[in-house]
Amino acid sequence: MKFVDEFREPELALRLVAQIRETATRRWVLMDVCGGQTHSLLRYGIELALEECVELIHGPGCPVCVTSCESIDFALHLAMLPNVIVASFGDMLRVPGSRESLLDVRARGGRVQMVYSPMDAVELAKNHPNCKVVFFAVGFETTAPATALAALHAEQLGLDNFRILVTHVRVLPAMEALMLSPVNRVQAFLAAGHVCAVTGFAEYDAFVDRFRVPVVVTGFEPIDLLQGIVDAVQQLESGSHSVSNCYTRSVGRQGNINAQNIVETVYEVADRDWRGFGSIQKGGLRLRNRFERFDAEKRFEPIAVNPIASANACLSSQVLSGQIKPTQCPHFGNACTPDSPLGAPMVSSEGACAAYFRYQWLQSK
Ligand code: SF4
Repeated sequence: MKFVDEFREPELALRLVAQIRETATRRWVLMDVCGGQTHSLLRYGIELALEECVELIHGPGCPVCVTSCESIDFALHLAMLPNVIVASFGDMLRVPGSRESLLDVRARGGRVQMVYSPMDAVELAKNHPNCKVVFFAVGFETTAPATALAALHAEQLGLDNFRILVTHVRVLPAMEALMLSPVNRVQAFLAAGHVCAVTGFAEYDAFVDRFRVPVVVTGFEPIDLLQGIVDAVQQLESGSHSVSNCYTRSVGRQGNINAQNIVETVYEVADRDWRGFGSIQKGGLRLRNRFERFDAEKRFEPIAVNPIASANACLSSQVLSGQIKPTQCPHFGNACTPDSPLGAPMVSSEGACAAYFRYQWLQSK
């Protein structure tokens, strides 16, 4: 298959692995900030192949995993209100809040609908004029344009029963929070190719200058990832730091201007709670005043924050900040499995715990 097979070429992959081993004079710590990359690194055995010269750690790159407990609890509350339907993507329905998930609430009679796109939720609102339909909008800069389009479409249709619970997050402020953490170990980042396809990578220049850390825009296939790691290791070995683009077939410096304009029209930058990190300054988006009639946080009464939210046994904050590997969590593979997850990283198809479970733990059994 064009544009896929050539990026899974085993001989080239082995040559790149050998190049990384030859280049590295010590074991470097690289972080990806993308669940898709995490899964590819595990699935194709790259993490194990480079174990001696590169430690790959997996940051807060899974959108479902970083959605705050408080936001999920609010969605659970809304789903139990009369004449309210909460709609979201499949992964989001399984992620536990402080006590239960949207699927649990549905089992108790709450109205919860899985959708494949924000436009499906607009359609749902159109078809249920007597209900308020709340789209639970999660994700990074990659999904924000689609929810922005849904808001514009709902405005065009004059819908007054459509709401959006916005929890969109921005990657760069989270990378800054990681670098400022006293327990930070990251020496170079693999930047998420799909996020950069939207945002471009010009905004990483200031980050690289400030923290003197290489950032390499990287794709998702094994060759993409290995080329990104080669670049990062070469920079680290030479003591340099710059933004480098190893995903040129999809990413340009300025990104997708149309998508950026749509997001800019509908959203403004705001502080946002990230699961495992707390509030991150400028770490997310919120609807602009023009769209406040769709804003679930403004149109429904707030609920009291559960003081034990996030205080369950899950160690996702340590996993998402790269302090521990999923396999170092005492619950991994016993109390916590994809069939009975204790935390979001084991639920999501992009979660780091799910990746380790699927590609390392199961295969070693
Ligand atoms: S293995 Fe389960 S409990 Fe441990 S960090 Fe991952 S999701 Fe949380």
